[in-house]
Amino acid sequence: MSNNSSNLSQLLQQYPWLPSLKDIYRDIALKDPIQFINDIFDNEQYDPIIERISKFFSVAFENLEIFPPFKPDENNISFYLLLKIILFVLNNKRITNRIANLYSKVTYSEIKKELEGNNRRNGIFILYQICINLGLNIQYIEEETYHTTLIRDNKKELKTNFKLYFTDFLHLSSNLKDDYRKLVNNTLSKGYVYIIPKELTRLIQEYVRKKILEINQIDKDNIENMRKSLFNNQNFKSLYDNIYSLWELKKEDFEYSIQVRFEKDKNLMELFPPCVKETLILIKEGQNIPHISRLFLTFFLLALDYPVDNIIEIFSATPDFNKQIAQYQVEFAKKKEYSPHSCDTLKSLNLCMATKYKDKLCIEGYFSKKKEQEQKIKHPLFYTQLKQYKLSKGQND
Ligand code: SF4
Repeated sequence: MSNNSSNLSQLLQQYPWLPSLKDIYRDIALKDPIQFINDIFDNEQYDPIIERISKFFSVAFENLEIFPPFKPDENNISFYLLLKIILFVLNNKRITNRIANLYSKVTYSEIKKELEGNNRRNGIFILYQICINLGLNIQYIEEETYHTTLIRDNKKELKTNFKLYFTDFLHLSSNLKDDYRKLVNNTLSKGYVYIIPKELTRLIQEYVRKKILEINQIDKDNIENMRKSLFNNQNFKSLYDNIYSLWELKKEDFEYSIQVRFEKDKNLMELFPPCVKETLILIKEGQNIPHISRLFLTFFLLALDYPVDNIIEIFSATPDFNKQIAQYQVEFAKKKEYSPHSCDTLKSLNLCMATKYKDKLCIEGYFSKKKEQEQKIKHPLFYTQLKQYKLSKGQND
């Protein structure tokens, strides 16, 4: 099989986790992370990458298997590198696991599409190129028929173009426990395991998953410094905060889950946490409130399905109100689908009003029946749901 540099560039644009990325795309792959982040976040042309990242985390947090289409171009390389930087600074094993699972499934589905497309031969060639790039000891053969060894009285006849050296087979399948992946249940010839393209793709999916999980093992000594430096870029910080808030929101078990939603003529104020009440009161008093409070309130109300016009109406009491600007900002926030800040973030911004309002729920937390222990409120939206639940049970605190 032949290989040329244009083929390789295309392959890397689609599968940027391949080892050759560092050779062919040195300028992107080896760029200083701070420079990389500034380049991406200070240039509108890269907005689609940032939007894709937000969407990707939100899909992963929902445990969904949605793979929105993307172009296999240099932006896809930047997407992969940005994903890794965010995972590194988030430094959260559970989040890394979720992303590793989703990203590796996307990879599986991409290769599968190639194999099931109109040009199967091309799909086989791409799979072969991937294996070669990974340094696997793989043999491409004219299609051969073979029989799997007996598993539960089932002997299967299969056809393939691939044989993989047994040590690579064992290495790649070490975490996959199914019986049919055991070496004894596979057909071996002179040290090579016959493997159908779909199963080979599954092993590559596993390789990609493990590669992303390696982020958890990177030396974390410098993580705080790196985070601080990256946070100098406000746009990056906003994306980070949004992902973090979304996670705080999703990881709650919502055992008291009750949907609180905007309803015309219904006042939800009694369900709102002190941080939201304070902002609303200041606005009503005609005081100027900081930009970050406006953003938080906008994200919070949008999350409860408040219509854009109602949010603008609330902001109309601010001294510097400009309807056009407010309209643009609220619609922009709605399009971005950002989630409101988590309690941790609000505390770090001095926007948590738990103590000022002597709010028992915020200060003491609540008793989790599932976890059988006291839990702290981690997210203002969760406060709202819990408050609704308590009021429906006739409890006032
Ligand atoms: S604990 Fe959370 S919900 Fe309560 S006031 Fe503070 S930030 Fe808001």
